[in-house]
Amino acid sequence: MKQKVFFFRRGSPHAQGFRAGLARGVLVGALICLGGAAAMGQSTAEAKQTADKPKSVLLVTGQDYPGHKWKETAPALAKSLVEDARLRVTITEDPKSLAAVDLDRYDVIVLHFMNWEQPDPGPAARANLKRFVESGKGLMLVHFACGAFQEWPEFRKIAGRVWDPKLRPHDPFGAFKVDIVNTQHPITKGMQPFETTDELYTCLVGDRPIDVLATARSNVDGKDYPMAFAFACGAGRVFHSPLGHDVAAFQNPGVAELMRRGCAWAAGLDLTDGGVKPLAK
Ligand SMILES: [Zn+2]
Repeated sequence: MKQKVFFFRRGSPHAQGFRAGLARGVLVGALICLGGAAAMGQSTAEAKQTADKPKSVLLVTGQDYPGHKWKETAPALAKSLVEDARLRVTITEDPKSLAAVDLDRYDVIVLHFMNWEQPDPGPAARANLKRFVESGKGLMLVHFACGAFQEWPEFRKIAGRVWDPKLRPHDPFGAFKVDIVNTQHPITKGMQPFETTDELYTCLVGDRPIDVLATARSNVDGKDYPMAFAFACGAGRVFHSPLGHDVAAFQNPGVAELMRRGCAWAAGLDLTDGGVKPLAK
């Protein structure tokens, strides 16, 4: 069965507007079509054949270091995530959306922002995000999201590792190999090592136990650094990857697969076949 998958883009300036946007159900985003041209939606019977129910993902972007083109990278990331037909991605360009009272309508929050030289989204967003994850939902962080919430000590707990501005930030942008170092974790089981061109982050700190899934060896100091890791946070699941400097980095097939699987895992979906779950014919 062919299917169209939508994702939505919202940019309301504050949580109130975000809720209003939800109420209006305004579709202002792009259309992603999987499986070619098709009628919209699916029948109830067909839906029942789908192994897992769709999961709603809120991709939070809209602020970053000026060198990060989030308007381009957020849709690129969303496109790779919805390769898993069970994932529905909504993009918000306002990090204050994290303060929305109905955040629980989502299954996974993807942090793809860094509040560069700006305040973070504030105490309501902090509390909401922490409660969201610890209550049993999923959280995913990509690239410079590790540098968000620098003034919030507890962010280190829910992010697992965070940016330490005192450390060397990353190798010079360039090519490197990502090795899969955990072949038993559902996210990386069966995945092969891959080459990518990106910033190899060397600046992450934190001490909570994590499952390191993939690493890369620095061309500068010869050390191995985590490129993907996962852990339980309260009843929730956190997947974190520092990969994803630009659009090409997100479009790299290995990175796209890693992100898609990581998001599906954070959503609590079954990944025994690698994660892509096309609708039954
Ligand atoms: Zn970068």
